[in-house]
Amino acid sequence: MVSVHKFGGASLADADAVAHAVSIAKAQPPRVIVVVSAFAGVTDALLHGARRAAAGEERVLRETAASLRERHRDVVTKLLRKPEQRAVLDEIDAAMAELDALAHGLSILRELTPRTSDYIAARGERLSARIVAAVLSRAGARAQFVDGPDVIRTNEQFGNASPDLAGTDRAARASLLPLLRRRITPVVPGFIGATPSGEVATIGRGGTDLSATLIGRALRASSITLWKDVPGLLTADPRIVSDARVIPQVNPREAAELAYYGAKVLHPRALTPLARSSTPLFVRPFADPNAAGTEISARRTLTRYPVKALSAVTAQALVTVTGNGMLGVPGIAGRTFTALHREGVSVSLITQASSEHSICFTVPASSAEIARASLTAAFADEIARREIDDVEVESNLATLAVVGLGMHGTPGVAARVFSALADGGINIVAIAQGSSELNISAVVAEADLAAAMRRVHGEFQLSRLGGGAALRPEHADVVLLGFGQIGRTLAPMLGRARQDGSRVRVVGVIDRSGYVFDPNGISARRLAGLANDKARGARLSATHGGVAASTSDALAAISRHALSRPIFVDLTAEDTVTLLRSALGAGMDLVLANKRPLSGKLADAQALQETARTHDRRILHETTVGAGLPIIDTYYKLVEARDRVHRIDGCTSGTLGFLLSEIGRGRRFSESLRRAMEKGFTEPDPRDDLSGMDVARKALILGRLLGFQGELEDIELESLVPERARKLPLAAFLSRLEEFDDEWHARARSAQENGHVLRYVASVTRRRVDVGLQAVESTSPFAALNGTDNQVAFTTMRYQTNPLIITGPGAGPAVTAAGVLNDILALAAT
Ligand code: ADP
Ligand code: ASP
Ligand code: MG
Repeated sequence: MVSVHKFGGASLADADAVAHAVSIAKAQPPRVIVVVSAFAGVTDALLHGARRAAAGEERVLRETAASLRERHRDVVTKLLRKPEQRAVLDEIDAAMAELDALAHGLSILRELTPRTSDYIAARGERLSARIVAAVLSRAGARAQFVDGPDVIRTNEQFGNASPDLAGTDRAARASLLPLLRRRITPVVPGFIGATPSGEVATIGRGGTDLSATLIGRALRASSITLWKDVPGLLTADPRIVSDARVIPQVNPREAAELAYYGAKVLHPRALTPLARSSTPLFVRPFADPNAAGTEISARRTLTRYPVKALSAVTAQALVTVTGNGMLGVPGIAGRTFTALHREGVSVSLITQASSEHSICFTVPASSAEIARASLTAAFADEIARREIDDVEVESNLATLAVVGLGMHGTPGVAARVFSALADGGINIVAIAQGSSELNISAVVAEADLAAAMRRVHGEFQLSRLGGGAALRPEHADVVLLGFGQIGRTLAPMLGRARQDGSRVRVVGVIDRSGYVFDPNGISARRLAGLANDKARGARLSATHGGVAASTSDALAAISRHALSRPIFVDLTAEDTVTLLRSALGAGMDLVLANKRPLSGKLADAQALQETARTHDRRILHETTVGAGLPIIDTYYKLVEARDRVHRIDGCTSGTLGFLLSEIGRGRRFSESLRRAMEKGFTEPDPRDDLSGMDVARKALILGRLLGFQGELEDIELESLVPERARKLPLAAFLSRLEEFDDEWHARARSAQENGHVLRYVASVTRRRVDVGLQAVESTSPFAALNGTDNQVAFTTMRYQTNPLIITGPGAGPAVTAAGVLNDILALAAT
């Protein structure tokens, strides 16, 4: 009984990973064949370097060669003893020296043929296989490197060669069986084979999966296992659908359909060699070798699920050929596809309206123009005679494939797909159902894809598939909008949270000038650098790696990536409602420190909440009221516990709190205000604080929680800026502060004489919101407030006579950033 074990590139990152792969291989029953990918990122690096060299930048490929040499040597020196290292190190040096030499040739020729590109890429797999073979031998197994071209035979199509099944069957048996008989474990580089003339050709990106199934087929293996960086084949790409689940078992036809329609987890043709074979294929987690993963086999399980999984192809364009003259004219469809075939354009989805008035089909966006040109040429006569109106191209589309064998014979599956999309306000551009009834495909705008996937995933309850726990993907990806004082305080906190094991990482930072984005996470060091640059007044667009863009373009660019559980954090003080709604639409949760979106027009605030509901996203905004204090959180906890909040009273301005407690101690107004300014407790123009506007916004946000239907203008607002000082230029106002001292002194004294102290208080109920100066009893909790502390009192059904009180520091970048961090972590954790 032979078993094939493939170790994917995503799993083979470093020496530890190689050692782990070897331990998995060793733990298998005898008669094992190991197939390996290149180490993580190596194929990309080789291809990128080769392209740059051919564009005249030979340096890039030489640097690639040098760094790959180090990387491979590092694994060897860590895992092998000195005498065993020699031969492998020589292989590495030779492969990289040759690459270095090729760099020069490419930059002179300025041409990279698919043949040469394959020759270059092949060394990634060849080196990793040599290394794994040596480490496996060192671990006590008898292992031997067997080159890919000795095992796999292909046609001549370099870059994406098709395997010759019969030829491969013969070559694989001839090269591998003798070793297995001698109890030797062959280690084979995946991804490559030999053309009829004996040259090395690659079989398409991700091709090691296919190498493994080809070998499994040839040797009639009892099982083939693909060890990957995911727990198995999932119901959807975990980077898009956060509650995606491992599918315990799927039929090969379902798996093939998923792979073909873009599920990156399997090479699209990996299952073809297994047609008519009964060899089961397993996708199992490299990180957890005891977990079962997914079995791909012909058994029928999970029959309650008509739909088992979703996948998607992005960067598609829809081409439509329309015209009245097409009616009943035979051969239009045939000519259309012949013309495309001639240009090598691959068509993935076709629909024809029954009126025969139009034919539409999707092609990769990169071929859209070629498709249009070839069709316009092919139908030149018909277009001239107006029998065909036009060939139209619509781009920025994606195809969502909904896959499951159980659709066959289950009525209404398509209807459920469409109503799930319609409920989410997602427009369907085109649809098609395969005749096999295995797949329903819907073409949607690329920007709607993530939401579409989540909707359909939810509709078919795929997060419950097979019992067990939903998969939580590794990270929550954070995008910061606004990189001022709070953003810069928050960035290092996020860096530390990540070090402490929280699964958050910052992937993007946006300011007015543009953005910085890295889908793999911006390192703590780089964030600190960006913060420094910003503190010195630089714009993000001008920093290293920064891109100039409007805020909405920046968001659009970032949301085109499949982020993991993205969280969009608004740290500005702008009107961002439209932008925030786009972020929700792109599947992001929101954290707001910005008060404006929720304290602007009621209709806008409601629209924002409504968008969050339709897209099933969450909005946390704790710091819009009391910086780091858990005020909104408390409100929701009370409501969840079925208490009813009647009113909320609060001193929610640190600035005014400081000022009034100073005045209460007998200090002069002018002096107190200047101290507040010195300590950085005020806005640049302290009248912005004194006007009460900031408190009014906070009060409005609280009021709206309670159901207050009014606008900012409906709030009774008492400004502390005397009428005559409102229009003065700032400098004039500041120079005349003493004029107001007597008035304040008198106010404070009269309050004191009545056993009261002055506080600036917001009083909020469902019906009205008041904000202004109050003389409160000196026994009231508000009287005891000190400095910039905030305090909020909830009067509820249960806390009737003795309100529930929350007190603490309510202003300043550090506590605000900490509050924002709390919200982010809360979203990331659930
Ligand atoms: P390998 O290391 O074997 O080459 P890949 O990187 O090719 O592995 O495939 C695994 C990746 O595929 C995962 O990291 C995951 O992000 C992605 N993926 C996309 N769709 C799915 C899905 N439905 N199930 C599992 N993984 C998926
Ligand atoms: N190394 C190749 C790639 O990155 C093949 C593979 O990993 O399967 O596409
Ligand atoms: Mg792969």
